[in-house]
Amino acid sequence: MVTASDRYQRLCQRIDAATANRAPGRAKVTLLAVSKRQPIEKIRQFAGYGQRCFGENYLQEAEAKIAALAPLALEWHFVGRLQSNKTRQAAVLFDWIHSVDRMKIAQRLNDQRPEDAAPLNICIEVNISAERSKGGIAPDEVPGFIDMLNDYPRLKLRGLMALPAPETDTEQQRQTFRQLFDLFSSVERPDFDTLSLGTSGDFETAIAAGATMVRIGTALFGPRG
Ligand SMILES: *Cc1c(COP(=O)(O)O)cnc(C)c1O
Repeated sequence: MVTASDRYQRLCQRIDAATANRAPGRAKVTLLAVSKRQPIEKIRQFAGYGQRCFGENYLQEAEAKIAALAPLALEWHFVGRLQSNKTRQAAVLFDWIHSVDRMKIAQRLNDQRPEDAAPLNICIEVNISAERSKGGIAPDEVPGFIDMLNDYPRLKLRGLMALPAPETDTEQQRQTFRQLFDLFSSVERPDFDTLSLGTSGDFETAIAAGATMVRIGTALFGPRG
């Protein structure tokens, strides 16, 4: 039987192997365990193996989990779509927001981040495949968006996030990931160190292309409830 501990070790090994294959000098890769629609007990279990960063998509669900697991001092990342009437809750609960794609959302998060908390880490979500159904801003709008974020001292811009459409053609996938890496590399700013890219099905390709954070759900937790 494959235990949760085996799955965790095996996944960490695959991430390490993909990281070791890259050009020297590349940043390390952080595993973000995407725990949406997974029970609290499984999160507690992976935390026990040493996993620190967890990602959630739904605020109400996340609020209950974060409260229940507060003594473990985990790092919580919001990776879902954020509506502007939910920004206050997000700004209080999370350490990171990966899906900032509108100035209105950025402004509200900045204004609503509690004063006694550290600045909120954010990534700009990029819609690289120009999919209408998805959030994210167009690649050519990224530089202007970054300039406008300078007005928001309660936000700490850490990098870019993308969720490209799944590709059956790995060469096509590689090219899309490479475009995101080039865009990421073109930005020179303090603390801009995160390319959040790659999920269960494609994280090795994403790491090869230069991802620094992979968001993995099912490959770690199994199917979602
Ligand atoms: C659910 C989700 C993931 C994890 O996907 P898996 O295929 O389960 O690894 C990653 N990123 C985002 C934005 C998600 O919503």
